[in-house]
Amino acid sequence: VIEIRDLHKSYGELEVLKGVSLTAHRGDVISLIGSSGSGKSTLLRCANLLEDSQSGEILFKGEAVHWKGHALHRRPGDARQVLRIRTNLSMVFQQFNLWAHMSILQNVMEAPMTVLGKSREEIEPKARAYLDKVGIGDKADAWPAQLSGGQQQRAAIARALAMEPEALLFDEPTSALDPELEQEVVKVIKALAAEGRTMIIVTHDMRMAHDVSDHVVFLHQGRIEEQGPPEELFGNPQSDRLRGFLSATT
Ligand code: ATP
Ligand code: MG
Repeated sequence: VIEIRDLHKSYGELEVLKGVSLTAHRGDVISLIGSSGSGKSTLLRCANLLEDSQSGEILFKGEAVHWKGHALHRRPGDARQVLRIRTNLSMVFQQFNLWAHMSILQNVMEAPMTVLGKSREEIEPKARAYLDKVGIGDKADAWPAQLSGGQQQRAAIARALAMEPEALLFDEPTSALDPELEQEVVKVIKALAAEGRTMIIVTHDMRMAHDVSDHVVFLHQGRIEEQGPPEELFGNPQSDRLRGFLSATT
């Protein structure tokens, strides 16, 4: 679904990504782990074109969307393609960013209606079904502020699902939550993985990374230091840096 080739990204003098390549095929669950500042969020943000990058290629379903430092959205006629990527790679952030002035149901329906142009009649039953799926069907008419953090994050996941994206990108979906609320969200992510959803998950939760991923990528200072199936990466880490990182996080 998404392929990143040799991506380089700098903020001014600071080179944050130093040639990162990553491919997510349909149904893959990839976890991105690494220390704070290693470039995990930057990589996700580049993947769905929230950030420009200096060089490298990004392919969506085999089609190049961004290459060699030419940000698509800087060229005329590219806005539609950027929108296509954004709607097909739905992001879920650490801070759930629900719209405070809309009910939970409206939050879920908003983007499909305004971005995809779907009618309320078409989207409302789907939105309710997604809320049921994440276990908060009874909160459809509540305001975001009336929900716990775990419920808000599940609403944010329902909102991402309502776009019917090709893949979901999660940036530390559980790290703003208390441990018991975290588990509610982990459960939803596990269920999505079991359904064969394509997901890239940035996380500090090594247990979740171990349990849900097909593939784990360890980023260190803007490079992939080590990657592999979770059993190998966690069970038999090869590099000193990964061993150090894992012993510091558990
Ligand atoms: P964390 O685990 O703390 O979320 P991360 O791996 O997600 O870390 P990034 O957010 O990708 O790290 O940041 C990588 C580096 O890029 C950091 O040194 C950060 O300070 C820098 N950086 C990120 N965003 C910007 C920005 N908009 N402008 C300048 N520097 C930035
Ligand atoms: Mg981050």
